[in-house]
Amino acid sequence: MSISQSAPGSEAAMTPGHRQALEWLRRGPKRLLIGGEWVDAVSGKTFKTIDPATEQTLTEVAEADRADIDAAVAAARRAFEAPSWAGISPHARTRYLLKIADAIEQHAEELAVLESLDMGAPVASTIGRVASAAELFRYYAGWATKIQGTTNPSDASRFIYMLREPMGVCALINAWNVPIVMAATKLAPALACGNTAVLKPAEQSPLTTLRLGELIQEAGLPPGVVNIVPGFGATAGAAMAEHPDVDKIAFTGSTGVGRQIMQAAAGNMKKVTLELGGKSPNIIFPDADLDKAIETAVVAFCRNSGQICSAGTRLFVHESLHDEVTARVAKIASGYKMGSPLVQDTQLGPLISERQMERVLSYVEAGRRDGAELVLGGTRFGDVGYFVQPTVFCRVSNGMRIAQEEIFGPVLSIIPFKDEDDAILKGNDTEYGLAAAVWTRDVSRAHRVARALKSGRVWINTYAETDPVMSIGGYKQSGFGREMGPETIEAYTQTKSVLMRL
Ligand code: NAD
Repeated sequence: MSISQSAPGSEAAMTPGHRQALEWLRRGPKRLLIGGEWVDAVSGKTFKTIDPATEQTLTEVAEADRADIDAAVAAARRAFEAPSWAGISPHARTRYLLKIADAIEQHAEELAVLESLDMGAPVASTIGRVASAAELFRYYAGWATKIQGTTNPSDASRFIYMLREPMGVCALINAWNVPIVMAATKLAPALACGNTAVLKPAEQSPLTTLRLGELIQEAGLPPGVVNIVPGFGATAGAAMAEHPDVDKIAFTGSTGVGRQIMQAAAGNMKKVTLELGGKSPNIIFPDADLDKAIETAVVAFCRNSGQICSAGTRLFVHESLHDEVTARVAKIASGYKMGSPLVQDTQLGPLISERQMERVLSYVEAGRRDGAELVLGGTRFGDVGYFVQPTVFCRVSNGMRIAQEEIFGPVLSIIPFKDEDDAILKGNDTEYGLAAAVWTRDVSRAHRVARALKSGRVWINTYAETDPVMSIGGYKQSGFGREMGPETIEAYTQTKSVLMRL
């Protein structure tokens, strides 16, 4: 698959997918999907979604608020009870999910371009994200027919069995950084298990989720099974988290908002899954394949311009290698190509917003003030679009703010360690526990360190590889529950024990 090699403006060089994305945008303001219909917000309000590379408005989007959430939850409840969804076989759910996966693949390039326009990630990576979204639907399509109850041990006078049933209406709230993957990560298992959904994409990047909603409709899902309600957190998001007729909430976003979601969910004891922030350690031991470790360390903090919950933003390097690794990381990162996300060889796109850019630059200042050594970047790139150069600090100490707080930008802290125990101690010295990596050729050390790291995921001699079969989630303040993999089936179902006296 190829994407336009030229700047976004040159229509002649555009691929069909690129043209389709622009045509879709030109079709006018985007609406809410409620009960199978595309509708305006009750308030009539809309908000703009911005291309962070050009600062231009892409389109207007209907802004859901409490009344729209009420309507969406009511539609999801009706759909949950309706024979057209509650009464169908698991095989039928499998077929729906496979159809959605096929539709995503058929529109892969269009979705990739839309995702790049809306959130700024280079198209070379968004095409991979779209493929991952399709794979997630396929993975959970397989699960729909394998969700089993049990027959439980008993004497002949009784029959005891356990049913595994859907939760009901699921409120799904996503962050802005990988919208199409997060939509699939939540919708696919929710639907495989027989739930219905009210999905809120983040206000900064709602477009691919809305386009996915159209593809889901084309796949023939009964009205109200999937409702899509873009809007702001304090209004639409809060209404979803508090809603008394929502049974389960799955949230991806910051740890601070995650805490609020948990409190709001307590009102009617919603079941909760939280995928939150991270400050992930990437540990290089002296016996590692250094070329590979260094090259991957740059990808680990630069991917999606650092706007990844599992970004490898704390690079722990044995003290004997500190200077060599710092120089090599800085050299590779300085060669990264920044620019239009629609150009095939762009490696670094913009940050999502001016606010995020200012936040990232304020952390650069904090790093300088705290005495870390800035070896690369630290400034905005250009004056249009929210681009920040790859930024590398070395000789960082673990107590500094840049080593403790999630920056969500392309900013790396290189921290020296003395020995294995010191690396583990420092790696774990954070309130987060989302992901971690260890680089070594010593098999025993690899497993020892993987076991010692307090983290929901650990990579050995690689970074950020994911697969739908592998769960993600947080230790400590990085979250609650797991997404992807088989564990998610438990998160979207509940069990019912039945005892019959014979
Ligand atoms: P955020 O918490 O500000 O917003 C996330 C979502 O929550 C948005 O849809 C927002 O509208 C909504 N929201 C905001 N306030 C709300 C409220 N009071 N009630 C209900 N909903 C509310 O996060 P963000 O800035 O969009 O995303 C960045 C954060 O997401 C980072 O911390 C990142 O680590 C995290 N993240 C985690 C994962 C993971 O899998 N663990 C993945 C991606 C992003």
